[in-house]
Amino acid sequence: MKIKFYGTRGSIPVSDPGFTEFGGNTTCLFISGLDEGVGTVIMDAGTGIRNLGKDIMSKRIDIAKEINLGFTHFHWDHIQGFPFFAPAYDENSIIEISTAGKRKIEKLKDIFLTQMQSIYFPVQLENMGAQISFEKYESNKFVGKKGALISITEVNHPGGCIAVRFQVNKKSITFCTDLEHQNGIDDNVVQLAMNTDVLIHEAQYTDEELKSHKGWGHSSYSQAIEVSERCKAKQLIITHHDPDHDDEFLRKMEKQCRGRFKDLIFARDNLELNF
Ligand SMILES: [Zn+2]
Ligand SMILES: [Zn+2]
Repeated sequence: MKIKFYGTRGSIPVSDPGFTEFGGNTTCLFISGLDEGVGTVIMDAGTGIRNLGKDIMSKRIDIAKEINLGFTHFHWDHIQGFPFFAPAYDENSIIEISTAGKRKIEKLKDIFLTQMQSIYFPVQLENMGAQISFEKYESNKFVGKKGALISITEVNHPGGCIAVRFQVNKKSITFCTDLEHQNGIDDNVVQLAMNTDVLIHEAQYTDEELKSHKGWGHSSYSQAIEVSERCKAKQLIITHHDPDHDDEFLRKMEKQCRGRFKDLIFARDNLELNF
């Protein structure tokens, strides 16, 4: 399996000096090497999806005929890049947009119709060009129709969000972006990620910062580490960096966190991993 982070920033993109090492694009993750039914998956369409779209159009990355674009939730920082996703303007593209879980979402398509209303954007969804379909899976499996082992759990986040595990043979990646642990660590997240090879867990705050951000929907560095210890993850990748945390701060935190969990890295835009 292969993953590439196209966006690792939380909340809002940043482009200031001092933010170039970790990068300023909001959440977008590309996963390849999944089974035949799925092949590749894009998770979330933060501003990072713009570069991913360029890589698809120029064939710098190999993507299956059908583009599976899955969403954990629909906050701005996870959808804002969609209008700039070049394959959506290519009439040869077949794109399935999906999410899963029991959250009440009347019509998935409406979210994107609204986002691209003429008051907000010059091109409307129906005029983009690609064949785009929308699917809300009720079960805990989604993105891909042939029963790939993709499992989810609902997590605590304003408006709802899901954590997702991708399993191929004995290898797995668990993607836990945007979640706030309430009353201790969320055991559903630990169970979803049990013995995973790569745990991608958000951490927007230090423990100190978390105290003044209760209810904002995010985790601290030590909570991300605690989840990875409990689920016995082989590797922990921390993402969804706070827009106020510059490179110097994140480097310092990364070093500190490695003191607690050895196989740990902070995600950076364009980071690629094969395993
Ligand atoms: Zn977010
Ligand atoms: Zn969110």
